Amino acid sequence: MLSAAIRSYSEASGSLVNLEKSQALWTLSTDPDFDLPQFAKASTYIKILGVKFGRDDNASLNWEEKLDAGNAKVQRWKNWRLTYRERVKMLKTYLVPVFLYVSVVFPLPESFSARLFSLFFQLLWGNRLNPVKRGITYLQRREGGLDMINPRVFFDSLFLKVNFGCLDSDNSSLWVNSVRDWILPFAESWVRGGSLKRGRLTRGFLPQYLEYGLRCLRKWNIAKVFIGSKTRKELYLTICRTFFYIQPVLKDCTTVTLKESLRFLNGVRLPANFFDIAWLSLHGKLYVKGNLKHLSVSERQCPLGCQQEETMAHFISECEEGRKIWREVSSRLKIPRLQCLTYPDVIYGIPASIPDIDRGTMYLIITIIKYYQWHTRTKVSVHSEPFHHRQAVNLILSELRWIKNLECRNRRETGGYGGMYIWWMWAYLHNAKYCWFIYFLSL
Ligand SMILES: [Zn+2]
Repeated sequence: MLSAAIRSYSEASGSLVNLEKSQALWTLSTDPDFDLPQFAKASTYIKILGVKFGRDDNASLNWEEKLDAGNAKVQRWKNWRLTYRERVKMLKTYLVPVFLYVSVVFPLPESFSARLFSLFFQLLWGNRLNPVKRGITYLQRREGGLDMINPRVFFDSLFLKVNFGCLDSDNSSLWVNSVRDWILPFAESWVRGGSLKRGRLTRGFLPQYLEYGLRCLRKWNIAKVFIGSKTRKELYLTICRTFFYIQPVLKDCTTVTLKESLRFLNGVRLPANFFDIAWLSLHGKLYVKGNLKHLSVSERQCPLGCQQEETMAHFISECEEGRKIWREVSSRLKIPRLQCLTYPDVIYGIPASIPDIDRGTMYLIITIIKYYQWHTRTKVSVHSEPFHHRQAVNLILSELRWIKNLECRNRRETGGYGGMYIWWMWAYLHNAKYCWFIYFLSL
């Protein structure tokens, strides 16, 4: 019968089955009921469009191989010098496709979940330390996150959409009817539009992947009409927003301050290479020794020789060596207020209004000082180099000069005199006095 079906298919489609490249697999544990002399016999599994089908645990068979392939890529990529934003783009573009094919057919086994998360977050952080809670990283950037994906929810939502999304429509193809018939005895009320009731999804009667799908639908309370009408992305975002997002808890930060700080953090004025330190600092999670839980208490002292534990507060506002940088920059820029910023002022970059300076420029200056303070401190801690605060100050001033030149050039190219006029008007309306603007130009 099977030979006849293949022959009939060949006649109808005009294409021939390549017998040399084809194999047959008998999926039951007993001996085959009939012979297929024209096909080679596969002993354990066959591969169809890159997915393996065998006799036993097909999900593990496929995911094991894909996780190994993903791990080889992550170990090669994770040490590249990339920003967090670039890393998120990279894993969405290159790491997700490694698992995409398999995830549509077989959901990720629970026992492999930790390995999958480890791969995605190793690539994000560049190491196995997780400085910020994962639930915060899933938030969009304007909410304080990194727009990171939750790999488990991403692949599960894809599996649910593809395999359960058609049940709400009039689709009567063979596979849809087959799925409907399988799950009907276990989820009758859900199939008829109600909620999925608690009950035993008896193993052995329901294919493993359908049982997993029903568990997900029940766990995340997804109705049939919802999964049918929403896109895969909407489904993913709804699950993430309801069950996995964590709102950041920030010290001494009002909603207004956070909103403004995030606007500048994600704005076009801040060069991309300053984002990571600014983002970690916003969450109070720079890799200062006090934040590294695996270090003993004696190892947590400030590397600049202060004889105190290096907490975020110490690094940002208490460290005497670090304060030297702020004092010198303050004097060179003639902005006295830079010397007496408080911890939240520095962390969020939004101090109470300072005469003659617009808030965006102030955010930029604070962020750049913080960045070079951190790098100078890291040279001492990691490379055992001596601490020279003047070196940091020179780097800060030349960086500010470079940004100023770039902004001026961009304004000239985009607006000429008209653009300059708009800029002056904007500065006037935002209470940014000309003296500061002229001073900034003459740095
Ligand atoms: Zn110190």
